[in-house]
Amino acid sequence: MVVTPGNPGIPDATSEPPQTLDADLYVIGPETPLVEGLADELRAAGKLVFGPGADGAHLEGSKAWMKEVLKEAGVPTAAYGAFTELEPALAFLRTLPGPWVVKTDGLAAGKGVLVTHSVDEATADVAAKLSGAAFGDAGRRVVIEEWLDGPELSLLCVCDGWRAVALAPAQDFKRLADGDAGPNTGGMGAYSPVPFVGPDVVAEVLERALQPTLAALTARGVDYRGALYAGLMLTSDGPKMVEYNVRFGDPEAQVVFPRYTGDLAALLAEAAAGELISEPQFDERAAVTVVLATEGYPLQPRTGDVIEGLEKADALPDVTVFRAGVARDGDQWVTAGGRVLNVTGMGDDIASARAAAYDAVSAISWPGMQYRTDIAAAHTAS
Ligand code: AMP
Repeated sequence: MVVTPGNPGIPDATSEPPQTLDADLYVIGPETPLVEGLADELRAAGKLVFGPGADGAHLEGSKAWMKEVLKEAGVPTAAYGAFTELEPALAFLRTLPGPWVVKTDGLAAGKGVLVTHSVDEATADVAAKLSGAAFGDAGRRVVIEEWLDGPELSLLCVCDGWRAVALAPAQDFKRLADGDAGPNTGGMGAYSPVPFVGPDVVAEVLERALQPTLAALTARGVDYRGALYAGLMLTSDGPKMVEYNVRFGDPEAQVVFPRYTGDLAALLAEAAAGELISEPQFDERAAVTVVLATEGYPLQPRTGDVIEGLEKADALPDVTVFRAGVARDGDQWVTAGGRVLNVTGMGDDIASARAAAYDAVSAISWPGMQYRTDIAAAHTAS
């Protein structure tokens, strides 16, 4: 296996462009190359590719388009409006009771969503997004949504064009600080399994959301082979779709895949070939991941701080430390991104997985390191 471009913390990383690599299977991770059509380019060259083409990747590339597809497919989701002009956007905003939800239409690395109890803040956010000041072109169209209540659920699915299979349910923590305070981030931690999400909920989401979405995509001529991450709210009216990502989102992937017991490459190859037959299998044990971020994240992350204790954390039992934003400076590890490490612990239950993760976190440090101390804390009784 080889990873490109990867980073110095990933074994077998290269900087060769994917087009020049000779592989049996190409798995495209991030959303930007998918939206830009890398899967189409590789498929045109006869390669076996796990990842949607630019047409399917539009589900993540434009929230307004995603909402249209959901509507067409009859998938329950928040009421919304999409706007490029300030006045109609604010008029719609004022019809909503609040809290208010304002999203960039385009890609914003998970940071383009504001959920607020202040209509003034929402108003200012709409103006900042539409003017291009906040997120450049990604914000020149906004989606304003009805606020949904309920626990969140992340369901990572694998699709082969017509069928979706679900991986183990996970829940992530989007806000920066303990107690769900602070701004939305790309995700500060996650855990799996989710005690209140049994096979019945997963089956309902597949039947009422994923399958109809795939059918609506097929009707539009989209052959969707790749990961489809469903972000849902489990409201009192049933599960409602909040967003789709066209890849395995993090930090959920860092708790779902450590529990995966099958042959992952074989599963992804089946999906890429349009003939998914395997059923994903998972370890009974639980996984908890804690994200370690730099000072200033998410607004102005500082980089270049020396990371201490990484090898010590690696050596702990039941722990995997995933390197996200790291670089080498001589023989030292330094921070090179907002979210730097994902520290995953495994255990017989959520409490022991959580203890393993936080033990490893306490071995790691750098100036200004920030993380949440309450990841999965409410679920340790399970
Ligand atoms: P998104 O990138 O669309 O998933 O939004 C990021 C996060 O914002 C979600 O994980 C939710 O925590 C929150 N969020 C998004 N849309 C809504 C909504 N309609 N109601 C409540 N919270 C939301």
